[in-house]
Amino acid sequence: MKALITGISGQDGSYLAELLLKEGYEVHGIVMRSELEDQEHSLRRLSGILDKIHLHPASIEAFPSMFEIVQKVKPDECYHLAASSFVSYSFDDEFAIFNSNVTGTHYVLSILKQTAPECKFYFAASSELFGRADSYPQNENTPFHPRSAYGITKATGFYLTCNYRDNYGLFACNGILYNHESVRRGYEFVTKKIIRGAVQVKKGELQELLLGNLDAQRDWGYAPDYVRAMWLMLQQDKPDDYVVATGKLHSVRELCDIAFSSMGLNYLDYVKVDPKFFRPAETVPLVGDSSKAQNALKWRIEKTFQEMIEEMVEFELANYETKI
Ligand code: GDP
Repeated sequence: MKALITGISGQDGSYLAELLLKEGYEVHGIVMRSELEDQEHSLRRLSGILDKIHLHPASIEAFPSMFEIVQKVKPDECYHLAASSFVSYSFDDEFAIFNSNVTGTHYVLSILKQTAPECKFYFAASSELFGRADSYPQNENTPFHPRSAYGITKATGFYLTCNYRDNYGLFACNGILYNHESVRRGYEFVTKKIIRGAVQVKKGELQELLLGNLDAQRDWGYAPDYVRAMWLMLQQDKPDDYVVATGKLHSVRELCDIAFSSMGLNYLDYVKVDPKFFRPAETVPLVGDSSKAQNALKWRIEKTFQEMIEEMVEFELANYETKI
């Protein structure tokens, strides 16, 4: 079996590649040309498997190069994870996000339809689809109400995926994944920011960690658990859409507490609130009901929030010098 992963160098792409290798797949990935020139940093998450995977340089916004790669690889499964993934509320970023997330997704789907119609397709949708939700927990039937350019692009990708499934018979699935973290998370996300900050405090290199709303809550899962759900979706008899979430809410404050106290520190002595990091608040929390995935895919969560944060702290302490 051959799998093609767009966004293979990211957190999810790298864990998924490892899982697929274990399952005996030939794994191909699409990376940006600039990433190949700066492997040590850009491909650091793939360092353990670089000699086992096939990387192809291309931009998902460039139709001809994407077409050529899909035609050459002829994948059995395609996991489309590449996207501008950080939720920005900045107007300046909107056009770039639309280009990569909407046009890129449309290109991949149309290329599969033309060159590999039997290929199963996974789209990385997101809890940001629900945005300003009216009710919680959200499930596959909850109306979408995205409130950022990122959320809108993910909603569009979701509908594109449904359309290629319904109109062209592609085996195409949407995974509506809630936040999922790991040692490979980028520093712009609050989990990694807090853990890095706590470790810097511990090392005596930081006196104050500036954060936004400490009472903001998220449904935070563990990335390796979530990539297993992606793979399971494509192993079913029929394509479908699934919410993947823990169903549990934790606050930024709790996250600080676990991270600092695991190193014998009190977060209240170091964490300060800076309105610069505030986001538009949710009136209804984003928390997912993954009953469908649990029943149909037999998907289970293997690591708790606390275990995940402690693992991230341990990793950060061990790799502090080499900013991972
Ligand atoms: P998101 O769900 O994609 O926005 O993931 P993030 O990890 O960026 O943010 C998770 C939550 O943490 C959001 O509700 C933010 O409002 C909250 N938060 C509080 N302080 C900060 C901060 O300093 N940086 C970030 N990124 N988020 C923060």
